[in-house]
Amino acid sequence: MALAPYTTLGVGGPARWFARVTRPPELLEALPFARARRLPLFVLGGGSNLLVSDEGFPGLVIHAVFGARAIVHPAAQSYEPKLNPATMTVTADAGMVWDDFVLSICEQGISGVECLAGIPGLVGGSPIQNIGAYGQEVANSIRSVTALDIETQEYVVLDHHACGFAYRRSVFNTALRNRYIVTAVEFQFDLEARPELAYADLVRHFAGASAEPTPQDIYHAVRAIRARKGMLLVEGDSDARSAGSFFKNPVVEEVAVARVAHAAGVPRAEIPHWPAENGRLKLSAAWLMERAGFHKGFAMGRAGLSSKHVLAIVNRGGATAAEIVALRDAVVREVEGRFGIRLEQEPVMLGFTPTE
Ligand SMILES: Cc1cc2nc3c(=O)[nH]c(=O)nc-3n(C[C@H](O)[C@H](O)[C@H](O)COP(=O)(O)OP(=O)(O)OC[C@H]3O[C@@H](n4cnc5c(N)ncnc54)[C@H](O)[C@@H]3O)c2cc1C
Repeated sequence: MALAPYTTLGVGGPARWFARVTRPPELLEALPFARARRLPLFVLGGGSNLLVSDEGFPGLVIHAVFGARAIVHPAAQSYEPKLNPATMTVTADAGMVWDDFVLSICEQGISGVECLAGIPGLVGGSPIQNIGAYGQEVANSIRSVTALDIETQEYVVLDHHACGFAYRRSVFNTALRNRYIVTAVEFQFDLEARPELAYADLVRHFAGASAEPTPQDIYHAVRAIRARKGMLLVEGDSDARSAGSFFKNPVVEEVAVARVAHAAGVPRAEIPHWPAENGRLKLSAAWLMERAGFHKGFAMGRAGLSSKHVLAIVNRGGATAAEIVALRDAVVREVEGRFGIRLEQEPVMLGFTPTE
């Protein structure tokens, strides 16, 4: 089964075996099938954070499209430390389209995920890299994740703390990578929370508005901003043939900021940076790339950078995975050579080593 059509980048070879799983109980047939044949396993959601190799994957791909519902639990307790009685808990099936879930919450006037509007993919993929945008992270609304443990073939519920969320990280893409198949995500929303307006683009969008924007207003504003940046999947927009941002914003020690300023020949104050975890600072990967000579629309064969957003590597038409990787390597090499900072890739790689 060709995998390229199942990814937003649209590159990559076939899977040896492919199972579209629409109900979690079917997993208990798929897992023994793979185990009996000693096949490596890969769980596929919306394929929006994925780069598949040209050779494809020599194992079983489980297309996890179970369910499309979000169920509200009327009276549920909040997770610590925010003991707030005015909360709403919602459990969403892993197979629900993420943006549909966000809209369903915003339509109820509830704040918490409005800035995550328009992110492609399914609910089951949202905790994996702790999706984030415009000042919000999904981790802030996740109460627990229900998953099938591939090793024991038993269901587990990981509470918020057990998920180990950090910037674009969780246990699902670090210590316990490839261990679980997420079947549902439980969210908790603070019913008194005010909509999030942290990012400059959003503040500008609502400048001069007479009333405070509702979550639904922000949902639509975020989608409009994303469309302008090619970060929304829009039919016919070749800039959207990507896996979103290809590089994470590097999180560095204070001393690295001075080093970047020195290398760029600008005052430290001109280096875009934000506070990050543990007193560290987050730099802008896009700024570093532009300073290293990569501009919007940069092309290298059939791979390129989006003409609207330098961080997105795009398939300009018929690109191979090898061409995407060659452009990635060129960016990493130049940025590291210029600033001593090694950019880390965001999309997951599949089929580049014998077992994954
Ligand atoms: C145009 C565009 C814009 C984007 N913008 C953003 C953004 O603003 N912020 C952001 O954080 N990301 C962004 N992304 C990346 C991507 O949309 C998210 O990471 C999304 O959550 C991936 O979900 P998916 O269902 O497509 O997962 P996939 O790409 O199918 O898989 C990604 C990883 O999650 C695992 N996975 C998926 N589903 C499950 C499951 N049910 N159980 C266990 N593991 C699973 C896969 O094995 C894989 O390791 C963008 C992508 C695109 C194409």
